[in-house]
Amino acid sequence: MTFRTRFAPSPSGNLHLGHAFSAWTAWQAAQSASGAFILRIEDIDTTRCKPEFEQSIFDDLIWLGLDWPLPVRRQSDHFSDYSRVLETLRQKGLVYRCFKTRKEILEEIARAPHGIGDVYRGPDEPVSEDEEAERVENGETFAWRLSLDRCRDHLGDGFDRMVFQDLDHGEQSADPLPLGDVVLARKDVGTSYHIAVVHDDALQGITHVIRGEDLKDVTPLHVLLQILLDLPVPVYQHHRLLVDETGKRFAKRDRAATLKSMREAGVSSADVVDQLLR
Ligand code: GLU
Repeated sequence: MTFRTRFAPSPSGNLHLGHAFSAWTAWQAAQSASGAFILRIEDIDTTRCKPEFEQSIFDDLIWLGLDWPLPVRRQSDHFSDYSRVLETLRQKGLVYRCFKTRKEILEEIARAPHGIGDVYRGPDEPVSEDEEAERVENGETFAWRLSLDRCRDHLGDGFDRMVFQDLDHGEQSADPLPLGDVVLARKDVGTSYHIAVVHDDALQGITHVIRGEDLKDVTPLHVLLQILLDLPVPVYQHHRLLVDETGKRFAKRDRAATLKSMREAGVSSADVVDQLLR
């Protein structure tokens, strides 16, 4: 198995040092395994993602000394792929239309006997087929949620035995229950990060997903989707998050920490890499 990893930024702002660390970690892992490093542009949120940020991503990563094969996959060019994934899950009966507003969901969670945080565990009463057809007909807005109850019925005992390999910690169990019934698409946006990332990692033959520990909690959901869709489960690594001198995580709004502003201020990329390795 050839080692293939990726860096998958969203062009909704300029990259900062935290992104540089993520990209660098994945790139280094590919170098040491004589494998491939792929760049993917995750721009399904077309209201927040901008072409100028995409260009900056290329400029920043080249400046850092990274390289990757062309063409780069841009998710907004492939919405129909993600709709097909949703359709597969629909045909298996694993997703349902949820017409509830955010407020109604929060009220329902508050009423649930064992509610944890704002995790939604599905409707108290399923919407009948007739009511659903009528609400769709009336043009009501809805979200497609993955039903964990139905996933459990579908996978049987396998649901409780889902695992993935973690590069640092060995075999881990993948328990999606803490996430509840996650939104996988909306009426007008036929996908979500979860569908797109799982589809593309498989399509691009990614063997190792190396990403920040802020995404660790969603990995069990991604493993569940891979199993439901008969996709290979890659090895995962969740690296530490880089913080500034006050201990705060870098954010896209911290202008000073963007790679673009460092480039423009004449900071050398060698200094940036030194800072990442500290
Ligand atoms: N596009 C995601 C982000 O920018 C990263 C996705 C991933 O690495 O799985 O946070």
